[in-house]
Amino acid sequence: MSDSRRLRIAVQKSGRLSDDSLSLLKAIGIKLNIRDRLLIAHSTNQPIDLLRVRDDDIPGLVMDGVVDLGFIGENELEEKMLERQAASKPSEFEVLRRMDYGGCRLSIAVPQEMNYQGIESLNGKKVATTYPYLLERFFAQKGINAKAVMLTGSVEVAPRAGVADAICDLVSTGATLEANGLVEKEVIFRSKAVLIQRADGALDDDKQALVNRLVPRIDGVMQAKE
Ligand code: ATP
Ligand code: ZN
Repeated sequence: MSDSRRLRIAVQKSGRLSDDSLSLLKAIGIKLNIRDRLLIAHSTNQPIDLLRVRDDDIPGLVMDGVVDLGFIGENELEEKMLERQAASKPSEFEVLRRMDYGGCRLSIAVPQEMNYQGIESLNGKKVATTYPYLLERFFAQKGINAKAVMLTGSVEVAPRAGVADAICDLVSTGATLEANGLVEKEVIFRSKAVLIQRADGALDDDKQALVNRLVPRIDGVMQAKE
């Protein structure tokens, strides 16, 4: 067990948010001794431990109070919040800062050959996605009667495989969509990485004081990059 007096920060172990999150921690003066296979990394100069996990786990770890802070994409955060609300699980957190990395959009894309006339064309259709709560919320807001089909991977091949009529997936350049014969039609969510903290008031005074010293340094690093 790690020491509960140390501030625990969750970061994605390996993926699109990992390098930028670690660089930021380094830039604000936190020295880390990262060994690739290990779940936990201790700072050598601050009372801070890093928990290195899949990004999907980070919202829940913060909302359950297992870690104090986490770096996470807003897409994943919002999806997990909706999922937890639906299951009546704790879903509180505080956004400390919106970061300048991890930018992407969650978009609906359809096969090139589909006769798409606007979102009404999705009525009665199945849409494959890893973000069913965000997608169903979008359908509800727009009054569209379509079904979100949950897939945790290979979303972009679902239409060709006959599993769905369209997809809703993260896009940054659009190259993956094009390679799969898909055309982006609707942006349903714009995302960046955010730094989140456990529910307001959940941190003890020492930890909160440390967080309050770290956040202005993050601002300083982001401003220096502008
Ligand atoms: P893990 O193994 O941790 O579950 P993953 O495959 O779910 O990883 P990544 O592909 O590393 O996740 O993406 C993590 C986050 O990076 C996304 O949830 C999103 O917030 C952000 N991101 C930025 N650009 C993109 C992009 N082009 N495609 C996907 N995600 C992106
Ligand atoms: Zn993930």
